[in-house]
Amino acid sequence: MSPVIVNERQVHCGEILHLLDNPDSDHDAIQYLPDGALLVTEGHIEAIGERAVVLSQLPDDIPVFEHRNALITPGFIDCHVHYPQYNVIASYGEQLLDWLNRYTFPEEAKFSDAGYASAIASRFLDTLIDNGTTTALVFGSVHPQSVTAFFEEALRREMRMICGKVMMDRNAPANLLDTPEDSVAQSENLIKQWHKRDRLGYAVTPRFALTSSEQQLKGAAGLLRKYDDVLLHTHLAENAQECANVAELFPEHRSYLDVYHQYGLTGSRSVFAHSIYLDKEDWKCMQQSGSAVAHCPTSNLFIGSGLFSLQDAIKRNINTGLGTDIGGGDSYSLFRVINEAYKVQQLQNFTLEPMTAFYLSTLGAARTLRLDKHIGNFEPGKEADFNVLDYTATPVLKHRIAETNSVNEKLFVLQMLGDDRAVRQTWINGKPAN
Ligand SMILES: [Zn+2]
Repeated sequence: MSPVIVNERQVHCGEILHLLDNPDSDHDAIQYLPDGALLVTEGHIEAIGERAVVLSQLPDDIPVFEHRNALITPGFIDCHVHYPQYNVIASYGEQLLDWLNRYTFPEEAKFSDAGYASAIASRFLDTLIDNGTTTALVFGSVHPQSVTAFFEEALRREMRMICGKVMMDRNAPANLLDTPEDSVAQSENLIKQWHKRDRLGYAVTPRFALTSSEQQLKGAAGLLRKYDDVLLHTHLAENAQECANVAELFPEHRSYLDVYHQYGLTGSRSVFAHSIYLDKEDWKCMQQSGSAVAHCPTSNLFIGSGLFSLQDAIKRNINTGLGTDIGGGDSYSLFRVINEAYKVQQLQNFTLEPMTAFYLSTLGAARTLRLDKHIGNFEPGKEADFNVLDYTATPVLKHRIAETNSVNEKLFVLQMLGDDRAVRQTWINGKPAN
């Protein structure tokens, strides 16, 4: 590798794969270049094409990075993750509500300390980078300083990140509660300070229906109306006991999703993590409101939540991305998430195709987060966040890849056998990030 090149025109050569559209609906969506070149200028994609064609149009002295035995793909996008749960990953033996009380809430209380929050945010973002994740939709804690700390660290790394302060005013330990008024005021301050600053964006983040009063849910909807390009990020129908408790707390509502819908929290800027226990009416509401889903299979298996029906989302054209849901999930790697997504769908007699899984972790995820103007593929003008995935990362991977006959097969093998070891390098905003 040559010395680090910053903000200079450069070309990356090797095997390149990205999607121009959803491969399920458009068979021409797959662009695969076995011997391709990606021209990057000042953090953006300038051109993509066959190596010989791209290089013939460039001066001889342009820096060329050769990536051999590797696949160059857009950076991965994690559509649901909690950075304050960095130290909660791999916590034993509970399902959602007990898991929150026993592990998560005590840890999140530590984020009142801005220094602690900065240290964890820094480690968390470095871990994302090592796993090839260049963008994420991220929960902070209830403390506004947790979000400030996160955005400062993301800004330093030039990452495209979305985060929000948890809004939570009931059914949690007293030291983690805000009030409807404070939660709106604090969120609004953070929006004004951080939303659209460089590559950062804000998501209004009520934790879930159980921990927000009606007044707080109304306040969250008010923020969405006032700031028409911030996202809404929350949990929906993750666990059976959670659903039963929501039904008890909101008896006048038809379903869990109906709570969010009636309070004005559904819509094309809303991302609902999990969405496991939905009925036909709920799916109709998801579709008609244009709401999006973050599917988190590693978490759903780890804390025993249930099996998400990806087929229901796909057949209704609902924007869907994948999420690690750290610390409910047990891996930062989108490869591991795809691996479990594949198995979760196998159990429901639905076969998740490798290109569909690739879509859910790149362009489809960018659409889910309404960032597809900026990221998700290598269309010229988009931001240069990409991974160099190593076909030879482990002996098993290397030998299995040698037996493949198509890019589809190679991709599937990477998805099933890969993890952070298969991410040789990650480039963010046109610069090497690790
Ligand atoms: Zn979560």
